[in-house]
Amino acid sequence: MPHSEPRIDRRVFLGTGALAASLACSTTHAADLNRAATNATPGARDRQDKVAAHSARKDFPVLIGSANALPGMQRYYANLQSGGDPLDVAIDVVKVAEADPSDTSVGLGGLPNEDGVVQLDAACMYGPWHKSGAVACIENILHPSEVARLVLERTDHCVLVGRGAYEFARAHGHPHTELLTESTRRLWMEWKESLSSGDDWLAPPAGKSQAGRPLQARGGVAGDPRPKRSTGTIHCSALSTRGQIACTTTTSGLAFKIPGRVGDSPIVGAGLYCDQEAGSAGATGRGEASILANGSFAAVELMRQGATPLEAGLEVLRRVVRQAQRLAIRQGEMVDEHGLPSFGLNYYVLGLDGTFAGVTLKQGGEFAVADPVGGPRLLPLVAL
Ligand code: ASP
Repeated sequence: MPHSEPRIDRRVFLGTGALAASLACSTTHAADLNRAATNATPGARDRQDKVAAHSARKDFPVLIGSANALPGMQRYYANLQSGGDPLDVAIDVVKVAEADPSDTSVGLGGLPNEDGVVQLDAACMYGPWHKSGAVACIENILHPSEVARLVLERTDHCVLVGRGAYEFARAHGHPHTELLTESTRRLWMEWKESLSSGDDWLAPPAGKSQAGRPLQARGGVAGDPRPKRSTGTIHCSALSTRGQIACTTTTSGLAFKIPGRVGDSPIVGAGLYCDQEAGSAGATGRGEASILANGSFAAVELMRQGATPLEAGLEVLRRVVRQAQRLAIRQGEMVDEHGLPSFGLNYYVLGLDGTFAGVTLKQGGEFAVADPVGGPRLLPLVAL
């Protein structure tokens, strides 16, 4: 349930004394951020001044995320407008996609790994505490974003994986849920049967695709014998009426991945990052590239140094291009015939002043945003 009251942390009160207590309380009001700035760098103080100024201008609250976050934003933006906690609202937004069997990139109906098992990754981060929680390779749990929040709020850790994450979720009352649907089972079988003509798995007769669509041609990328595999994820960053920032990313990851593969989504700094002094960012697309660029952290750091969300997002993508070109020395399929990345990657970037940008490596695509100017809507991604 969304909290309308500031979160009070037992750890803060029992733990580190006056500074922690003063920070925990002060972050509940944008103007009070200036008081917390006594120990901050001059740049941070300046940004916190901006938070106070902008909250008076009613540029808050803001949600930004991947296009598949729009239905959740339409349902929950009002909660943020009425003073809701940004982490509560961000998680409510992504849970809509987690529970949607027609979204094959997240939660229920997410495409499985190469063994036909749905393994989910999710993380969240809460700016006022500068604390994260994440689960990776979790199976049979419908809402990994909720479990990530439990790791954040109810443990002293940042990441739980696999069986341990599942047991932790069960201990907190999450039901065991089969996440493979009949539709994704068929897609998985189709993928398996189209992998190789040298194994014992035979594709159905022509025109009889099990998944009810034309069989995928072998070799998704020129010269790559492997079938092209879809990616997809949901990210949402939120800035509350009080200037508090939070974010979450949740995914079934790369379709038909090697069991145990962890993408960028549950890795703080890669698939998401937020800092109450600088802003928030999240990624969807090729997770390995975002991990190698530490892309979400980089975007937030660039904003800390004065970049706008658009400048920060585009600069991260420029780094990703150079890094892909370097990696292509070893793995040629990383770049196309023009030397540009053959994969997709998007960043969703949110500044503390309510400014935002959605950027992408390749032309096309949209992102979702909700702000006081236009409410929840889709906007075109800015291509590098
Ligand atoms: N970033 C996700 C991953 O690599 C997948 C995606 O967003 O398409 O697991």
